[in-house]
Amino acid sequence: MASPRRCRARLRHKAGRCRNWPVPGKARCRFHGGLCTGPRYTSPEKIAERAKKMAAGRDAHFARLHAAGLKHCGGRPPANESPDARRRRLEAKLLRREVKLIRLKEEKIERAWVEAAEKTKAMREEESHEPSFEELQADFERRRREALARLRRY
Ligand SMILES: [Zn+2]
Repeated sequence: MASPRRCRARLRHKAGRCRNWPVPGKARCRFHGGLCTGPRYTSPEKIAERAKKMAAGRDAHFARLHAAGLKHCGGRPPANESPDARRRRLEAKLLRREVKLIRLKEEKIERAWVEAAEKTKAMREEESHEPSFEELQADFERRRREALARLRRY
């Protein structure tokens, strides 16, 4: 078993623990967080400031999407959604899914067509294959050797 002084990280791909030496004064090796210096924002003010910046970044992202005429994902339908609005929303959802399925089906058919066409082409090329000079020469050479071998037998 690994000594307790080794890195204490558990392995993902198999049973056991990392066997590297930990970073001095730490419990993990440099690959498993030993170099980590802890959270960057510790005071409540710093955390609040960071959250504000993150929210601002998210808003800016949505503003860019809206400017491009796109909708952002996520969110839940409004609690006071009218039955009519709900029906429209669900219909739009079904429509989007249907369009996606049709597109997938078309791609599948397209791929099958391309494969069949390539197969036919390959078969035709094989049928109308004319031997090259080198192939004729090799064939002639083979026959000559066979003839000589037959002669030697007598
Ligand atoms: Zn480790």
